[in-house]
Amino acid sequence: MTLDNIIEEIDKAKNIVILTHEMPDGDAIGSSLALYTGLKQLGKDVDVVIPEYSKTFEFLPNSSKIQKEGRTETYDLAIALDSGDIKRLNGFAKYFEDANTKISIDHHSSNTMFADYNFVNPTAPACAQILVIVLEALGVIIDKEIGTCLLTGIITDTGGFKYKGVTAETFEFVAELLNRGVNVSDVYKKVLQTISKTRFELTRIALNRLEFFEDGKLTFTYITKEDEQKVGAGNNDHDGIVEMGRDIEGVEVSIFLRETDNGYKISLRSNEYVNVSDICLMFSGGGHIRAAGGNINLPFEQAKTKIIEECKKHLK
Ligand code: 5GP
Ligand code: MN
Repeated sequence: MTLDNIIEEIDKAKNIVILTHEMPDGDAIGSSLALYTGLKQLGKDVDVVIPEYSKTFEFLPNSSKIQKEGRTETYDLAIALDSGDIKRLNGFAKYFEDANTKISIDHHSSNTMFADYNFVNPTAPACAQILVIVLEALGVIIDKEIGTCLLTGIITDTGGFKYKGVTAETFEFVAELLNRGVNVSDVYKKVLQTISKTRFELTRIALNRLEFFEDGKLTFTYITKEDEQKVGAGNNDHDGIVEMGRDIEGVEVSIFLRETDNGYKISLRSNEYVNVSDICLMFSGGGHIRAAGGNINLPFEQAKTKIIEECKKHLK
């Protein structure tokens, strides 16, 4: 069984690198720091390598241990978290590819099974929830620090416990975290409720541009690099924009494009029936059924038309 192999490999490894996806969200960072802290508790020599992340997550225990680079020597073991494919590893796939053994722990339905051992459960609402099983099997004590990191992952990826993937175990685990002294309301406020001024300004720009198509079943908006410069946007300040289109009554698919150095990053969300992960697979991306992303390297008008046309095909 994969879990047994994973425990065995972690037991054997002396040095371990933890990696996650680019533009890390709360699940990516929370899972990485929970695993880091857990492996430290077991006395392992661990690096957690994340080149850039949002200030929102600086409050997380051990965030000061995050490194921008890994070491030059080969790691015994590399563990990728919350990443559906190897291309997503922050440009740090080299640490993963070079490691003697490779493990992936993830919950994306589009996961390409790129590791030696893939512990992937697409029904889990967050990678952090899968990690609870791994940490417990390792004999790690889920203390307040680890609990805060895991909770951050669960809260962000479930949109504050509201998405369909939430299970009874989610609430049982959170109840247990409350017993262990984790401040659930404080974490909720920090990761979901409070937004930076720059994020607010970026959202305002995107919302002013939002357009409806197909009798209001499709929304489209975007931001450019110039917009980001204008408001002084930081990492992840675009978070939440795509959900705003999705949450308008009657909308099935929300499209958000963000200008990058190579065209546009696509974010898609759906409400009831469109499998946006399938759509994103056509744009060298993937994700979950109701939340997915990809990339498109075309001039703006062509990119816009192409993604809208593709989404239209899936609407009833
Ligand atoms: P977001 O729209 O928030 O950037 O991403 C939504 C979901 O799709 C996340 O679970 C994210 O991991 C996944 N995703 C976003 N971009 C990509 C991509 O380029 N490739 C893959 N495989 N998944 C992506
Ligand atoms: Mn996730």
